[in-house]
Amino acid sequence: MDGPGTAGDESVSKRPTWVATDAGNHLRGRKAQNTKPEVALRKAVHGLGLRFRVHQTVAPRCTPDFVLPRWRLAVFVDGCFWHGCPEHGMKQYRGPNAELWRQKMETNRNRDRRNDATLTEAGWTVLRVWECQVRRSADEAAVLVQCAAQDAKRPPADKASSSLDAARATDLRA
Ligand SMILES: [Zn+2]
Repeated sequence: MDGPGTAGDESVSKRPTWVATDAGNHLRGRKAQNTKPEVALRKAVHGLGLRFRVHQTVAPRCTPDFVLPRWRLAVFVDGCFWHGCPEHGMKQYRGPNAELWRQKMETNRNRDRRNDATLTEAGWTVLRVWECQVRRSADEAAVLVQCAAQDAKRPPADKASSSLDAARATDLRA
């Protein structure tokens, strides 16, 4: 009901607020989950015989796009724009919202790093794949996942929940 900033705004009224721009139009309605590249990568990974679980929260506030429980590998498909891919990320902040964009992108980067750290502490290996890598070749991106799985160490006592995956997953170890 209350739009953003209708109540109790006195204390924050001096902060810059977003201004609608044409440049921002394409950002509306973006999907956070099950994006096209995410689905394409999952399909290719599945094609390699690897089994995964989708959108499982495996550590506090950490929900990778998919995880391979057997290898304790967490995979994120990072959107080029929001996560700042070197090729397609926002290079310059311009316009009336420049400072807000800068802050937002910094917040995103910090969140990614924090999630990586949380997952690593919880014993997961984290693999981040750029959206554009998947768009170029989902099959090649899937091989990255396979390699990361091969490199990932499997803890001695894995959760019982992964027994099904362990039974079904194709053996990666030659
Ligand atoms: Zn990119």
